[in-house]
Amino acid sequence: MLSKLFVFLFLFFFINGNAQSYKRLHQKAIVVDAHNDVLISILDGLNIENDLTGKTHSDINRFKRGGVDVQIFSIWSDERYGTGKGFNYANRQIDSLYSITGRNPDKMMIVKTPADLKEAVKQKKLGVMMGLEGGHMIEDNLQYLDSLHKRGVSYMTLTWNNSTSWASSAADETSPQPSPSGEGADSAKQKGLTTFGKNVVRRMNELGMLVDLSHVGEKTFWDAIAITAKPVIVSHSCVYALCPHRRNLKDDQIKAVGKNRGVIHLNFYSGFLDSNYASRKQIFDKSHASELDSLKKLNRQDFEIDFWMARKYPAQVQTLRPPLSLLLDHLDHIVKLIGIDHVGLGSDFDGIESSPQQLDDVGDLPNITKALLERGYNKKEIKKILGGNFLRIFKANQP
Ligand SMILES: [Zn+2]
Repeated sequence: MLSKLFVFLFLFFFINGNAQSYKRLHQKAIVVDAHNDVLISILDGLNIENDLTGKTHSDINRFKRGGVDVQIFSIWSDERYGTGKGFNYANRQIDSLYSITGRNPDKMMIVKTPADLKEAVKQKKLGVMMGLEGGHMIEDNLQYLDSLHKRGVSYMTLTWNNSTSWASSAADETSPQPSPSGEGADSAKQKGLTTFGKNVVRRMNELGMLVDLSHVGEKTFWDAIAITAKPVIVSHSCVYALCPHRRNLKDDQIKAVGKNRGVIHLNFYSGFLDSNYASRKQIFDKSHASELDSLKKLNRQDFEIDFWMARKYPAQVQTLRPPLSLLLDHLDHIVKLIGIDHVGLGSDFDGIESSPQQLDDVGDLPNITKALLERGYNKKEIKKILGGNFLRIFKANQP
């Protein structure tokens, strides 16, 4: 009887102790998420100062619960915001981020430099950083690039799904048809970086703005990696060998990022992690075909429709989600190829309609630390993954 009690007590304290230690480790580490799209919802009228559980993946309180020290907010637009509109639209998003931060000086601060980042961590405030997702928003103008950098944009994703006049996207490079409309229409035939595109990369290097190679086509990837003088960021992509999607990196690209001393931040999107997700999703879509058709007639974007359906059919959508372990498989793959110094997190929360189980929203990030410990990663390695690696390339990019 006594021995049974002893075993029970041992297990109780062992399990409890472990739970404490992963939470403590997560709390102690500098946690950086390299990509979050919640700003789009803000422009749509939602306020992240409120509890938006059930509506978005993120709000100020859930960043706190997730132990996020630094969030890089995506300044995003699609091809509809090209010449004459893109720069202005980017600035409107930055304005709204500044005003939220200004209203919450006890909780948030703008981070433009590694010193700012350290200060935010010290003051236990959410470090607010920005990444421009789509080079079309600089409207082929290097002065606009300088101006956005001055306002605090720390990285630029050279393209979104649409190509610019100077860089081809993964979507366009892999599609037999050029972009149907917008800036990319003429340029999709041109693959890789143009002379101006190379000047953009050089200017980013001079400014200390990180070159983001998520979303770009392979030709652009290789052109950029050949001329960049600084380590690159891949802000939200996964491993092609495990899930062959045009948004993911092939092994030779992963090795090139390792050689460049860059960091690949893993995207949490089920469709980039799980090669079977698309077929499960297809079955789901088929069973709701008429509803989807009527949503499409409202001229909604695919991702907007996906969000809508995820909110309407949460139980069904739940069964489409892969296990958290799959995210760790992608991480292991990169670590085996190029080592622990080149991997991080770029959730893409609020830009994706499906994420792995146990990662419902940004508040669940500590579950990753728990899973990393269970996989056998040590504390030092986990701190690198959670943010240390980003901090290194952020410093290395400074002029
Ligand atoms: Zn994206």
